Amino acid sequence: MSPVRFPNGVRLIKGTNPVWKQNLDTLVDRVADLIINAKRIVIFTGAGISTESGIPDFRSPGGIWDRFDPDDFTYHKFIADPESRRKQWQMLREGSLTTEAKPNPTHYAIAELDRLGKLDCVITQNVDNLHQKAGVPSEKVFELHGNMLWVVCLSCGRRYPLEQIKVRLDEGEEVPDCEACHGILKPDAVFFGEPLPEKVLKEATSRSSNCDLFIVIGSTLVVYPAAYMSVYAVDSGAKLVIINLSSTPMDRQATALIRAKAGEAMSRVIEQVREKVSG
Ligand SMILES: [Zn+2]
Repeated sequence: MSPVRFPNGVRLIKGTNPVWKQNLDTLVDRVADLIINAKRIVIFTGAGISTESGIPDFRSPGGIWDRFDPDDFTYHKFIADPESRRKQWQMLREGSLTTEAKPNPTHYAIAELDRLGKLDCVITQNVDNLHQKAGVPSEKVFELHGNMLWVVCLSCGRRYPLEQIKVRLDEGEEVPDCEACHGILKPDAVFFGEPLPEKVLKEATSRSSNCDLFIVIGSTLVVYPAAYMSVYAVDSGAKLVIINLSSTPMDRQATALIRAKAGEAMSRVIEQVREKVSG
């Protein structure tokens, strides 16, 4: 992990209240105003919003890594070792990520921002497809860590819906291969040790550097290079909003910082935006 670069010249001003000490009503109102006045809004989301849809954070205790060894799930091992592939498919089959997860109020609030014409794009660390399910057009969702609901052939690039591969697993196949070329199939999410999808990373970097408001929701900004997006935004002069339960390395750069559950905060923010737009 690389250290965060802080942009030059950004300091807390002595004598003013730290942003996190303001009350929630004031903060929600502030964020709504920032949204109304912004021209290009990028939303950045992490695991904190998926947990509210019942999707476990892989890194938390009781998560999937208590039952499976993360060392079995490196990209290198997956490619090199059929036994590792067998274990990976077994884990998927046991439902570490269900296809039935539903979007929650945060996903719907973001989709509404899009309908109000206020969304440039969503950049997400999540692999669960819930932004699209909530109604954000897929061309506006940049998935830095891929999408777990798709499976890709590493030889010919053909993509299959996970549902379709799950049927084959349920029928007893342990290591499904590509129907077209018998190549290795891999969930289309980024594994440990696997480079991030280059095109997505490039586009996300460019959008972050060109927005005027960058809103982090449910991410502690510690997984790189994803977390750099907020740095690019601030370095380029964008205002930063952070909505997260715990602290992040970028808190001091935030114009507004909300320490609350994403769903509650975003429901109130979108309500305010709606009122201000119609009023
Ligand atoms: Zn293939």
